[in-house]
Amino acid sequence: MEVCLPGTGGVIPLENRWLTCCWVEHQGKALLIDCGEGTQVALKKAGCKLSRLNTLLITHFHADHTAGLPGLLLTLGNSGKTTPLTIIGPMGLHLVVAALTVIAPVLPYPLYLLELEADKPGKLDADAMEIRCLPLKHGIPCFGYRVSVKRKPIFNPQKAKQLGVPVTLYHALHAGQTVTLPDGRMVKPEMVLDGERAPLSICYCTDTQPTDGLTEFARNADLLICEGMYGDESMRGKVKEKGHMLFSDSARIARDSGAKRLWLTHFSPALTAPEQYLDEARSIFPQTEVAYDGIRIKLGQKIK
Ligand SMILES: [Zn+2]
Ligand SMILES: [Zn+2]
Repeated sequence: MEVCLPGTGGVIPLENRWLTCCWVEHQGKALLIDCGEGTQVALKKAGCKLSRLNTLLITHFHADHTAGLPGLLLTLGNSGKTTPLTIIGPMGLHLVVAALTVIAPVLPYPLYLLELEADKPGKLDADAMEIRCLPLKHGIPCFGYRVSVKRKPIFNPQKAKQLGVPVTLYHALHAGQTVTLPDGRMVKPEMVLDGERAPLSICYCTDTQPTDGLTEFARNADLLICEGMYGDESMRGKVKEKGHMLFSDSARIARDSGAKRLWLTHFSPALTAPEQYLDEARSIFPQTEVAYDGIRIKLGQKIK
């Protein structure tokens, strides 16, 4: 599972910071969360392959999360896409997409739209990825998303060795296939596997005030991507009024949820050097990173 933030800004795109969005890729299929103005450029700069994109999740209908939609849809068409694109978002998605595609009326691929029930958590699937959604607290309907993929069970080389399985057959067994040894014996995967592992999960939560459900929603996530509109505690009043969070809010959610790491994103355009508040956030949750455009990670790469 590969995760990239092509942009990390909020409100408006800047010369040196595109708007917040998240690219998740697994087994050659990708989904994108949010599509503000310029997102297609950010995707290109970050090396995301548009041909793999099948699903677009929209958190909410503020322009910094949606205004890039017509351009992205046209570019997908111009680059030869013929397979469907599914767009998932809050109630009203049909209206918003209809309005935005007035200037992109003909696309060479089908668009499927799925509206999420207001104020309700939900669960759906896209390719081999499971998507959960949680209503956030932002003044207008807004959803956080959790994307999970299954992992292969743990392979136990000692068991394989005891059974006399040649190393060349390990991969097939780990992939769930029964193999035949040179002496004719059959070895089934369950004879060399050590049981299931928790799925890999990322959680993407912007824009929002802290909400009770958020900590549980992010429970044990491998990566929590959370908004940090400002780092300075003196902005507390402003973020509350506008439905956003400070770095410290996100760090507390990461700490309380047991997430493995936190990426802060969706910085205010006025926040030119978000790193200056990193130490403070790390004093709450040490595995905090101030994300930057193009930040990328491969989760669960090593399979023992
Ligand atoms: Zn925003
Ligand atoms: Zn917003």
